[in-house]
Amino acid sequence: MGGGVRAAVRRSRLDTTWEMRSSRPVSRLDFIEAELVSLEARSRRRRVRTVTARRGAEVVVDGRSLLNFASNDYLGLAVDPRLAAAAAAAEAEHGVGAGASRLISGHSAVTARLEEALGAWTRRASCRLFNSGYAANTGLMPVLAGPGDVVFSDERNHASLIDGCRLSRAAVEVYRHNDVDDLRRRLQDRAGRRRFVVTESLFSMDGDQAPLEEVIAVAHDADAAVIVDDAHALGVLGAAGEGLAPATAADVIVGTLGKSVGSSGAFVAGPAGLADLLWNRARPLVFSTGPTVGSQAAALAGVEIARSEEGAAMRAHLEDLRRELAAGLTIPDGRGAIIPIVLGDDRDAVAASAALEASGFWVPAIRPPTVAEGTARLRVTLSATHTVVQVRAVAAAIRPFVRR
Ligand code: PMP
Repeated sequence: MGGGVRAAVRRSRLDTTWEMRSSRPVSRLDFIEAELVSLEARSRRRRVRTVTARRGAEVVVDGRSLLNFASNDYLGLAVDPRLAAAAAAAEAEHGVGAGASRLISGHSAVTARLEEALGAWTRRASCRLFNSGYAANTGLMPVLAGPGDVVFSDERNHASLIDGCRLSRAAVEVYRHNDVDDLRRRLQDRAGRRRFVVTESLFSMDGDQAPLEEVIAVAHDADAAVIVDDAHALGVLGAAGEGLAPATAADVIVGTLGKSVGSSGAFVAGPAGLADLLWNRARPLVFSTGPTVGSQAAALAGVEIARSEEGAAMRAHLEDLRRELAAGLTIPDGRGAIIPIVLGDDRDAVAASAALEASGFWVPAIRPPTVAEGTARLRVTLSATHTVVQVRAVAAAIRPFVRR
């Protein structure tokens, strides 16, 4: 036995003796297992599936072929070979990794072109890219708001907006979902140095639309600026697929590139100067390595398709699919590609999702804390890659789970 090995054996004997003598738990991280067990017992444990192949709306998940109603890839661009080709060509030319924060090692011409294209699409004077929507919202809010300010936030806003508000250290007034009167009252009652109203345009888990024009009018009357997260409307709604916010007087718009645009990343668009201030103050930009060139080239290709005639045809097809789903299933009125089927109990939602999977449909169960207690649901997302026949089939498969 070598000296090193002997020492290791001695140490391990010492450890064992210490553990035997000690009344303390063997590991200080035992709570991890306990937390997982507790999540499991409450039907709240989440697991990630492994996808081994994707072809249009068909995915192979853990070895089984399923029809995918679980993705925010609303236009089907995530699986479009033109995006993959654009990414490969850009990486062949520029390499893959950004190397450092863009402030330190610069960003490629592809990224600059993408920022320009997004600014033009959303009709705003300046635009800055972020690595993700989460980074955009958590980066943006502390740049705009700080101690002494007030942010009025819709109660169903996405976690990234909630976390951005927390990071800003501004006071946060949560107003009732889409309730303009409640917002007006709160604006009257709560003064602050600077004031902001934050809302999604098309809500991610409910699929419903904010009354944007009214929210903006009420906010501007009270001299508050409005930030709109247009993540789920971008590419899907708007005359040229630009989302719901650009046509309004929204002061700042956030959009993501990992949904209808088919790649990853996000952007903040707003008045001249905002994009420069973000360079200087947004911590996810200053302290995080830039995105890969490939993801930006793919996003640029995705934006070009989404803005084109072809994108318009995809949007028209999506509307047909929504009508088809509504013909086979009672769904909320509205537009867009997100359709919640609220079942209430967590276990019911999980069981329905599992049964649908057994029938070949991937329709995720969404549970608290993503949605409010008692509103667990199936979340159906439509994609331009779906056919009418596939949507009829999923409607028929879901129908038995819906309470009358
Ligand atoms: N905003 C909204 C409304 C979202 O739904 C999401 C994520 N789905 C994000 C922001 C975060 O975007 P990303 O996934 O790019 O981090």
